[in-house]
Amino acid sequence: MTDIRDYIRTIPDFPHEGILFRDVTTLFLHPQGMRDAIDQLLAPYPGQQIDLVAGLEARGFILGGAIAYQLGLGFVPIRKAGKLPGAVLSQAYKLEYGEAVMEVHDDAVQPGQKVLLVDDLLATGGTAEAGIRLIEKMGGEVIGCAFLIDLPDLGGRAHLEGLGMKVHALTA
Ligand code: 5GP
Repeated sequence: MTDIRDYIRTIPDFPHEGILFRDVTTLFLHPQGMRDAIDQLLAPYPGQQIDLVAGLEARGFILGGAIAYQLGLGFVPIRKAGKLPGAVLSQAYKLEYGEAVMEVHDDAVQPGQKVLLVDDLLATGGTAEAGIRLIEKMGGEVIGCAFLIDLPDLGGRAHLEGLGMKVHALTA
């Protein structure tokens, strides 16, 4: 079984000096690594009812799309503000400096639907929390949050678990 750490590289000083950026495009490039990562992201949910997969822009689209295909489910893109063409719900969230807004089509999730939320990396949890709030505004239930990478020092897992979320990451 693949250790996904073998396929992720760290790029220093991106996007700013002092940041060690985890680059997952090298995992996306690797066919077996990518397949194993998708299988491992789904491992905590055997036999569990999932109705929809939601992904956070942008790398959550690649992972979430593959997971939705694997499960035979629909996919909901949660996008940065101003990208979606239909009527949207918006949710502001904190960045390191300032604020940003995530959006979702307001008819993407039906009340009571069980949604798996997917992104590549969990840092502070602000982006994932915005996604959770958008899904919950439509009456959806987030049954889990799946990430390739958790950076535990930044507190995202503790924050999401404090919101009652089940959090699963493949590596720190
Ligand atoms: P958070 O909102 O949890 O602080 O930040 C997580 C978001 O920022 C995710 O959408 C993730 O894609 C992006 N992100 C932050 N740092 C990194 C990084 O080092 N590598 C990658 N691939 N994404 C990052």
